[in-house]
Amino acid sequence: MEHVDAVVVGSGFGGAVAACRLAEAGLSVVVLERGRAYAPGEFPRGPAQLGRAFWDPAEGLYGMFDIWSFSGCDSVVSSGLGGGSLVYANVMLRKDEDWFVHEQALPGGGYESWPVTRADLEPHYDAVERMIGVSPYPLTSPGFDDTLKTLAMRDAAAELGLDWRLPPLAVSFAPSPGAQPSQGAPLAAAAYGNLHDVPRRTCRLCGECDLGCNDGAKNSLDHTYLSAARHHGADLRTLHEVRRIGPRVGGGYDVQYVEHMPREDEAGEDGDGPPRRTGPHTISCDRLVLAAGTYGTSYLLLKNRAAFPGLSATIGSRFCGNGDLLAFLLRATDRSRTRPIRASRGPVITSAIRLDDGADGRGAYIEDGGYPEFVDYLVEGADMRPGRVARFLLRRMRNILTHDTNLSAEFADLIGRGELSGTSLPLLGMGRDVPDGRLRLRDGRLDVDWTAESSEDYYERLRSIMRRIGDVLGAEYADSPPWWRRRVMTVHPLGGAPMGRHPGEGVCDPYGEVFGFPGLYVADGAALPGPVGANPSLTIAALADRMSTRILESRASLAAPLAGVGAVRAESVGVGGVGVESVGVGGVGVESAGVESVELPAVPPIEVGTEAVPRGAETVSTGTEAVSMGTEAVPFAAGRADEPSVFEGRTSLWFVEEMRGLLTLVPPGGAARPGGAGGRPVAFRITITIDDIDRFLTEPEHEARAEGWIEADLCGGRRPIAGGSFNLFVPGETAGQRRMCYRLRFWDADGRPRTLAGHKEILPGAPTRLWLDTSTLHARLLEGHVEEDGDDDATVVAAGTLRILPSDLVRMLTTFRTAGPDGTAAVTRFCRFFLGELWEVYGPG
Ligand SMILES: Cc1cc2nc3c(=O)[nH]c(=O)nc-3n(C[C@H](O)[C@H](O)[C@H](O)COP(=O)(O)OP(=O)(O)OC[C@H]3O[C@@H](n4cnc5c(N)ncnc54)[C@H](O)[C@@H]3O)c2cc1C
Ligand code: SF4
Repeated sequence: MEHVDAVVVGSGFGGAVAACRLAEAGLSVVVLERGRAYAPGEFPRGPAQLGRAFWDPAEGLYGMFDIWSFSGCDSVVSSGLGGGSLVYANVMLRKDEDWFVHEQALPGGGYESWPVTRADLEPHYDAVERMIGVSPYPLTSPGFDDTLKTLAMRDAAAELGLDWRLPPLAVSFAPSPGAQPSQGAPLAAAAYGNLHDVPRRTCRLCGECDLGCNDGAKNSLDHTYLSAARHHGADLRTLHEVRRIGPRVGGGYDVQYVEHMPREDEAGEDGDGPPRRTGPHTISCDRLVLAAGTYGTSYLLLKNRAAFPGLSATIGSRFCGNGDLLAFLLRATDRSRTRPIRASRGPVITSAIRLDDGADGRGAYIEDGGYPEFVDYLVEGADMRPGRVARFLLRRMRNILTHDTNLSAEFADLIGRGELSGTSLPLLGMGRDVPDGRLRLRDGRLDVDWTAESSEDYYERLRSIMRRIGDVLGAEYADSPPWWRRRVMTVHPLGGAPMGRHPGEGVCDPYGEVFGFPGLYVADGAALPGPVGANPSLTIAALADRMSTRILESRASLAAPLAGVGAVRAESVGVGGVGVESVGVGGVGVESAGVESVELPAVPPIEVGTEAVPRGAETVSTGTEAVSMGTEAVPFAAGRADEPSVFEGRTSLWFVEEMRGLLTLVPPGGAARPGGAGGRPVAFRITITIDDIDRFLTEPEHEARAEGWIEADLCGGRRPIAGGSFNLFVPGETAGQRRMCYRLRFWDADGRPRTLAGHKEILPGAPTRLWLDTSTLHARLLEGHVEEDGDDDATVVAAGTLRILPSDLVRMLTTFRTAGPDGTAAVTRFCRFFLGELWEVYGPG
C-alpha cells in the first residue's frame, strides 16, 4: 500500500496552505482533490459549458459548482483544484479582534467560544497575505477611479456615517507589486512557477470572478500555494475523491478514494454515458489533514464515525452560514434622474461597510456585489415588460401598413436602455449569525438543520441598514427570493467539526488536531466554532498555517510521526510534584539508572510495507471494531455510518509505546536462553488503548488493548498485530511483586500464527531498580495464538529481552491522548495510579 507522511484531503484554503507548508518542510505530501484543475482560459463560459459546470459525479457532472438545498438553508461551494478560491470574490479580510469571543451567550441558549485570539493568528494572517498577494481595489488610479458601484457605496456610507473601506483583494491589479495598476498587463511568474504553465494578466474588471478568472488575474490557490506546494514536491491529484478514512493499527491513517474518469468529448466537455471511475484505492499516512470544506470534512467524519471511537459528541455542531444575506438595490436615482451603477464593471466585490456589534444585533459587513456583463442581458430580458413588447408589435403593424421597412428604432425601443441593469446593485451581507446549526446524516445524506430564526435580530438589522443605503442611493430595496421563505443561501458555510478547549466543547483542539486521534487534523471551515463575521477564507488559511507550524515544530522536536501536538505536556504527567524527568520515584531519573550502558542493535527505520495476512485471516476482531487488513483490504471499521460511538460518555486514554531488543532462537526441545549469542533484532510499536479509564482502574486485571506492529527478522519483517493486550501492575509471583504483561498475537510472513508474550517484573527493592524494571521486557516468541493460561504448554520459538530507550520514553509521554468527557482528570487518575503503584513497590517502608 502506498504510504506518505501526510495526505491532505481537499485543496481549498485549508488544504492548499497545509500542503504547501508540509511539503516545503520536506514531508512527502499527497493532495487528494475531487474536482478538476482549471487553467486560465478553461473556466466554463458558454451555455453548453455552464450547463455542465456542476458537481454530481453520479450524474456524470464533474464541474465547479456544488449546490445544496438542506432542510434549513441553501448553499453553494466549489469543487476543483483550489477549492473555493476558484469561484470566490477575492475578499481577504481579517476577523475582527472583538469577534474572537469567549463564551458569549447566544439567543436561544448556548454560547460561542473561540479558543484562539486575533493575536494568535496575526503572524499567520501576515504570512498568508504575503504568499497570496493582496491589495485593495486601486480606486484612485486612472482606469479604476470611475468604478461607479464602488463610488456609490462610498457615498452612501459617508452620508449614513458608516465605516466604509476598500478591503484587501487577492487580485493582481498591477503587473508587479508596487507598479502602477493597469488592465490586461502580463503578470510575471512567481519564483516557484505555476502549475498551469499558462500566462496570466492583470484584472480587466470583467466581473466574472465567481465563474473563475480566465485571465489568471485572481491570485487563487492554484496560482499560489498549490503551485508552491507542487514546486516543493507535493503530489496534487485531481478527480480523486476520498470516500472513507480510518485510523491505522499502530498509528497513522488509511484513506480510501476513488478516481473519477470523466468521458471527455473533443470540445473538452463531459460526454454522455455512465460515470466512470477506478477504485477504491487506499493510501496510508502518518498525518491526515481533512480540508474538504465544511460539508466535505463533516461528511467524512460523520460517515466514518464508527471508525473513530470516542470522537467528540460535538461532531456536526456549531454550523452557521456566516450571516450571509443577498439583497438588491434596484433603479438607483439621483435627484429624479437615473443614477448609473454598472455593477458588471469591476471585480465582484470592491468595497465593504463594517457594522460593529450593536444593541439591535450582532456585527456584520455589507459589500457591493458584481457580476459578468451577460447577466445584464438576463436582467433586461427578465424586465422586458408587456408594455414594451405590445408597443413593439403595434409599431411593427404600423410599419407594414405604411411600408416603413426600417426597424432599427423599434428594436432599440424593445431592448430599452438597460436602465434596470445599469442602475441596480446586489448587496452582499455577512456577519455574526448564531452558530447553532447541526450537520447530520439523514438516510446517509448530509443535511443541515440550521435556520435563520435564532439570528432574527441580526438579519433584521442587516436588512434595515441595506434599506437605508438604498434610500440614500434613491433605489428600491428587494430581498432575494429565498428570503421570502426566510431561507438564506450561504456561500460561507462554517462549523461541523469545531475547535474547542476540550472534547466536550469541540471535535479538534485550537490547532485543528482531533481530540483523541493524534495526527488527524481539521484544517478547513469545518473547524471554525462560529461565524468569522468577515469573509472567512483568510481566517481559514491563517488557522491552517498555524496548524502547519505546530505540526512541523512537534516533528522537529520529536522526530517521530506519532509525536503530535503534546496534548499532555511532560510536566503535567506527574503526581504530587513527581514529573516526567523523575518517572523514577524519589528523584531516581532515567539518566541515573545506568541506561546508557544498554547496548541495543539498530532497528531499521520505521517503514510501512504491505501488511498481508494469510487467507482466511483478513478480518480480525480487535475488541471494538472489525479491522480488515488484507492487501486488497478495506481497512475500516464496520458499523452504521452515523451511529454514536460505543464509548460515548466514557473517557478513554491511549499512548504509544515502542520497544526494541533481541530474540534468540530456542532449539527444538531446548531451553530458552534469553540474550544468548546470535540474538536477532526485534521491535514493536503499539498503541495501548484504555477504552474506559474508570473500569480499567477498578478491575484487578487493569487490561488495555494493544494494537500496532511487531518487526522481527525471525518472523519475516514487520507484521501487523492482529490482537493484543496489555495488563498494568497485576500481582506477580511473590508478595509485593507487580507485573506489566504484554501479549501480541500476529501471523509471521509465512502465515504461521505467533504470539509475543512478555512481562516486565516490578520487584520490591531499592528505588535505583525502578528504571531497569520498568523498561525491561522479558519476552518469548510462541507458536500459535496463545492465551495466557496456555503459555506453559506452548512451543517457544525464541526468547529474549526488549527495552525502552530513554528517547522512546520521552516520545511515549508526548503521545498520551484522551477522549470523552473527562480527559485531563483521566490522565491525572491514571498517573496517580501508576505512580502510586510504583511507590508501593519502591517507596520507603
Ligand atoms: C461564489 C462564492 C464567493 C465567495 N467569496 C468569498 C470571498 O470573497 N472571500 C472569502 O473569504 N470567501 C468567499 N467565499 C467562501 C470561500 O470560498 C470559502 O469560505 C472557502 O473556500 C472555504 O475554504 P475551505 O478550505 O474550508 O474549503 P474549500 O475551499 O471549499 O475547499 C474544499 C475542497 O475539498 C474538495 N473536496 C470536498 N470533498 C472532497 C472529498 N471527499 N475528496 C476530495 N476532495 C474533496 C472540494 O472539491 C474543494 O476543492 C465565496 C464562496 C463562493 C461560493
Ligand atoms: S474582474 Fe475579471 S479579470 Fe478581474 S479578477 Fe475578476 S474575473 Fe479576473
